Amino acid sequence: MTTTTRRARTLAAPPARHDDWRSDALCVEVGAESFFPEGKGEAVRQQVEAAQRVCAACPVRRECGEWALATKQTHGVWGGMSEQQRKYRRSAAGRARSAGQAAASTQAVSA
Ligand code: SF4
Repeated sequence: MTTTTRRARTLAAPPARHDDWRSDALCVEVGAESFFPEGKGEAVRQQVEAAQRVCAACPVRRECGEWALATKQTHGVWGGMSEQQRKYRRSAAGRARSAGQAAASTQAVSA
């Protein structure tokens, strides 16, 4: 399966209640080759940057990024974020949740 087919199939999935942003996805119009780069090194970095330039102009970037984080998409560029950027955001969110729970526990013990 080509990356274009995979991307089109993913974006063409039946819209759930909050997934109607897909109909405005700019990547569907420009092709998906850069959104699922394969390999390593400079060529991949250039493909990711090309995809991120498309995302920067996309009217549903925020919705796309939130969906990718919420559904734990591990491959490809979504919402202008690379795989590594989403992984970092998920880790940072997890650390923030843990810190909040620790603070709540401390307050509960001292109350
Ligand atoms: S933000 Fe990027 S990946 Fe998401 S729909 Fe828009 S162009 Fe596609």
